[in-house]
Amino acid sequence: MSMTSNEFAALSDRVQGPVFVPSDAGYDAERTGFQTFGRRRPQVVVGAVDADDVRAAVEFAAARELPVAVQATGHGIPAEGEGGLLITTNRMTGVQIVRERRTAWFEAGVPWSAVIEAAADAELAPLCGSAPHVGAVSYTLGGGLGHLARRYGYAADHVRTVDIVTADGRLRQITAESDPELLWALCGAGGNFGVVTGVEVELMPVSSLYGGGLYFDAHLIGEVLRAWQQWTRDLPEEMTSSVALVPFPDVPALPEPLRGRHVVHVRIAHVGDRAAGERLVEPLRAVGEPLIDSVREMPYREVGSICNDPVQPMPYLTANAVLRDFDDAAIKTLLGLVGPDAPQQCVVEVRHLGGALSRPAGNCVGNRDAAYVFGVNSVVDDSTAAVARELQNQVMREMAPWSTGGRFLNFLSGESADVDKVREAYDEADYQRLVALKRTYDPTNRFRLNHNIPPA
Ligand SMILES: Cc1cc2nc3c(=O)[nH]c(=O)nc-3n(C[C@H](O)[C@H](O)[C@H](O)COP(=O)(O)OP(=O)(O)OC[C@H]3O[C@@H](n4cnc5c(N)ncnc54)[C@H](O)[C@@H]3O)c2cc1C
Repeated sequence: MSMTSNEFAALSDRVQGPVFVPSDAGYDAERTGFQTFGRRRPQVVVGAVDADDVRAAVEFAAARELPVAVQATGHGIPAEGEGGLLITTNRMTGVQIVRERRTAWFEAGVPWSAVIEAAADAELAPLCGSAPHVGAVSYTLGGGLGHLARRYGYAADHVRTVDIVTADGRLRQITAESDPELLWALCGAGGNFGVVTGVEVELMPVSSLYGGGLYFDAHLIGEVLRAWQQWTRDLPEEMTSSVALVPFPDVPALPEPLRGRHVVHVRIAHVGDRAAGERLVEPLRAVGEPLIDSVREMPYREVGSICNDPVQPMPYLTANAVLRDFDDAAIKTLLGLVGPDAPQQCVVEVRHLGGALSRPAGNCVGNRDAAYVFGVNSVVDDSTAAVARELQNQVMREMAPWSTGGRFLNFLSGESADVDKVREAYDEADYQRLVALKRTYDPTNRFRLNHNIPPA
């Protein structure tokens, strides 16, 4: 059902930000974020500038029984489809650091890069992830697994305040004192309970780390993976790391040693004493001559250089599973399916968990007993999506013996984010508690175009 011009005018009058319908010139740009595969086609888009705009948009949607989607930078997009009202938050860019309290407050549209910069001036660090261009709010609501994770836990473990517009159109400030049950749910259950307009988090006393990437050529992939998994068995919490198998294209934008090569990229982040970091990395350096070794003492503001994630929007499919172990047999299975000789090219990543991530933190983030999380990402178009999807399904099936059966919410995107997989991100008792809360705060599932937890 399209909007009448009267409805459009009523909504435009109520909000300060722009409003778009599909026939508008700016509509496509407004609904497009980093993930360009399976973009939503909302009936109307509200480019919110503040919490009042968000309230007006939610009330408008409620009056017309429209589902509400939210988009910051578009790195996640957990639900596709037609219709509904999309609130874009990229105009909500406020960041405030309070050095004495070691906190950051940021609005819904802020990418991590802005928080990293502002916090670095106060010699503090947010628990951001691999890519500074990812949206800080959604990353945090979905758990948030970053470079300091084994030392400090998930980003969601350090949330103080959440400002949220709930399905009834109310703007609420949620803290552990005001509403512990809702805060427990918000820290890990994404956007199921409303549109978050701002979040206050704790910052860590970190201004530099010993980190970077060790890139090895394809012929060392097996050895590097085996050395890495052995190495991860006995590491202090100060060390957080991951490995990725990356088929690099042959393009001038890449450093010469990586062009056109399938590499294994070990990502290192050690917080604390530099000499201790160097000693810890020695066994990995001993595996062979790396193509590039960028591991060094770096200011935290350069943390994005560890993974060097792509910044250009792209169409991709992704799947992930949480692992209880990653042993030689798992490596053999993985390489047989998605190693350098695989018929389909994809990026495979395995992250080391444990440490502070395994400790309960008074929120609903699940799978805390997991040892690793791994993901497969394939760049696709309409003609290759079916084959990539089948390959990802096969990888998940064949890696099942090492899986706990769990998923990591933030890595569920697009069609991989169905209701069953979302459920696997939580421990079952916590999931039932979330369903009960969803019935209280969003009984009609107004917020369902997300990592959805249906109220019934
Ligand atoms: C290159 C890349 C690197 C990544 N690295 C990491 C990593 O290291 N660690 C990690 O944990 N995750 C990582 N992720 C996953 C990322 O954290 C999630 O996809 C996150 O949801 C992206 O948030 P966004 O705002 O950028 O995306 P969006 O697509 O804009 O948002 C994703 C979803 O979050 C919800 N949402 C967004 N804003 C709000 C709001 N204000 N209120 C309520 N709900 C909202 C909506 O359901 C929305 O569909 C990465 C993703 C990519 C593509």
